[in-house]
Amino acid sequence: MKTLILAEHNGTEINPSIYQAVTAAQFWNLPIEVLVAGSNISAVAQQAASITGVSRVLHADAEHLSHQLAEDLAKLIAATGREYKVILAAHSSFSRNILPRAAALLDVAMISDVLEIQADNTYVRSVYAGNIYTTIQSADAIQVLTIHGSNYPAAGAIENKAHIQQLEAPPAQRKSRWVSETRSQSDRPALSSAKVVVSGGRSLGSAASFEQVLAPLAEKLGAALGATRAAVDAGFAPNDIQVGQTGVVVAPELYIAVGVSGAVQHTYGMRDSKIVVAINQDPDAPIFQVADYGLVADLFEAVPALTAAVQ
Ligand SMILES: Cc1cc2nc3c(=O)[nH]c(=O)nc-3n(C[C@H](O)[C@H](O)[C@H](O)COP(=O)(O)OP(=O)(O)OC[C@H]3O[C@@H](n4cnc5c(N)ncnc54)[C@H](O)[C@@H]3O)c2cc1C
Repeated sequence: MKTLILAEHNGTEINPSIYQAVTAAQFWNLPIEVLVAGSNISAVAQQAASITGVSRVLHADAEHLSHQLAEDLAKLIAATGREYKVILAAHSSFSRNILPRAAALLDVAMISDVLEIQADNTYVRSVYAGNIYTTIQSADAIQVLTIHGSNYPAAGAIENKAHIQQLEAPPAQRKSRWVSETRSQSDRPALSSAKVVVSGGRSLGSAASFEQVLAPLAEKLGAALGATRAAVDAGFAPNDIQVGQTGVVVAPELYIAVGVSGAVQHTYGMRDSKIVVAINQDPDAPIFQVADYGLVADLFEAVPALTAAVQ
């Protein structure tokens, strides 16, 4: 039996979280294969083949996979999935869109956001936004799971590349089709792998002030911008920078929370940060309970002053 990792990529580069997924997959001591699906993505397949510990890359290259629709990728995984004991991915909105569908097609359970692998079918995961840890066992023949990437060190890269095998994709499904997409263009580092994150809440008041107040600080620190769900729902920030239980989980060296209340659903996504700095005008805001450094101040004064002070 073998382990299969679903690779997330942007068409040219593999997502850094895959390196952590490879480390997690080593628990089973089985050959590790990586599935790279898309269109014109041979560079991504090459990159996957150079990850230490990967024994083979399955390269599914087809026009109808170019937008990586969940229904198509789930069908592709289900078509080959019975050869594997474990089907694994890094926990992200990409994989949690696809793996539950693949698990359903294979008629097995889906276990999401695993914090720790205790045995080959026993996992620790958190519920209630990280307030309770549960240990669960799956009796299924195929274990389908996503892992909490920041709990695993990234695998390295090697010169001797693994074998890349072409994989024929099943025909396109007709349930969904790609119509269009709007991507926020940014030169800032990717949120999920950034070393510094500057996050803002609803208190920023508008999309314009979110950008005007936070972007200069982020630029000086080489940081990614993050947001609370309340800020996203209010239209101040795009959905793909939401940090939290239903957003992105980050693990930077430094997390600066600006006008963020500290609701558990938000702190779930930032709790792996090494140092947390909070700026909030309410001294009783829950964010101060998880912050290493707290400043009780009006953000509209404190952030420009901090930005000016950073060399
Ligand atoms: C199922 C579920 C999933 C959720 N998932 C997420 C998630 O993934 N991510 C997430 O973030 N939330 C999530 N939420 C929402 C979460 O519960 C909170 O509502 C949200 O995080 C609050 O966002 P906020 O801190 O921006 O807003 P608020 O709660 O409105 O807090 C604003 C804060 O800003 C401070 N403030 C106001 N003005 C200023 C100023 N001028 N200067 C300094 N400070 C100021 C206030 O004191 C307050 O603490 C989820 C909720 C549910 C039910």
